[in-house]
Amino acid sequence: MLVDLLHNFKKELESPNLRAIKLLSRPIISLRDLGSSLIPSEQAASARDRILFYLRKYPRFVVDGDELMVVSGIGEWARRVRELRVEFGWWIYSGVTVADMVEDARTTENDAELASLKNALGIDPSKIKPDQYVLMRVEQDREAAHRWNVLNEIRKKKGSVSDRIIEYFRRNVGQEITGEELKYLAKDKKEWARRVRELRTEQGWPIVTKNSGRTDLAVGVYVLEEDRQAYEHDRFIPDPIRVAVLQRDGFKCIECDWHRGMLSPTDPRKMLELHHKKHHKDRGGNTVDNLITLCNVHHDEQHRKTPRLK
Ligand SMILES: [Zn+2]
Ligand SMILES: [Zn+2]
Repeated sequence: MLVDLLHNFKKELESPNLRAIKLLSRPIISLRDLGSSLIPSEQAASARDRILFYLRKYPRFVVDGDELMVVSGIGEWARRVRELRVEFGWWIYSGVTVADMVEDARTTENDAELASLKNALGIDPSKIKPDQYVLMRVEQDREAAHRWNVLNEIRKKKGSVSDRIIEYFRRNVGQEITGEELKYLAKDKKEWARRVRELRTEQGWPIVTKNSGRTDLAVGVYVLEEDRQAYEHDRFIPDPIRVAVLQRDGFKCIECDWHRGMLSPTDPRKMLELHHKKHHKDRGGNTVDNLITLCNVHHDEQHRKTPRLK
């Protein structure tokens, strides 16, 4: 349709009449017509469907907000993107959320995180603009669509960003949660990334990511493995040290060789934890040499043997 119009327009210009001038004096084509002309209505009837159609055509590819405006054909396209993300469970990350992740990774000098982001996006993550978007996962996350009600319920609660985030995790133990959901919970405050990191390292919640020991996860995804906090003496372990210890021990409990691949509902072993071999004061001793990997069962046993450890 657009092509036809432009073609005719050119012809009009070549013809000796003045219709072309008339055409110029009013909007040549409406945004809505443009949107539906680009993507056939059999494939995507609504503005929201057209946005999804376009993003799914270019997964893990950074697209501009302007492109989504044009394919959607509506001025309110950003709202449709939000709906696709939160209500329908499509992992559409905005440049704003990626920028929050980049900032936190930089603050903590987490080069592994920056490298994964670069790998996932195909561009330098610090170059992403706020009005750019990327579909991080090709398939719809139907569980995310189910989480929507819980997300909104907790978002309305008073309390700190950390309180809301940990409550949401505890209601979704074992589920893959996206940075976009956490940012939404934080009412778009950029502190969400730092709060998640603090919940993990300082408060000892086993919130794992690709670069804190769960290499199988996609970048920008967070999982609370179990609803229990690490022993106080085992907190404050920096992510790079954590990963180095897990790698050295082959991602297995050094007592029983348990690993995540053996997860089973009837087995009390649910997760791997790090334990300090030597009791230490003042939260020191977070070195690879002083840490070992244990399953939760053997970790508890270790602490029963030495009850002075909290
Ligand atoms: Zn321990
Ligand atoms: Zn074990």
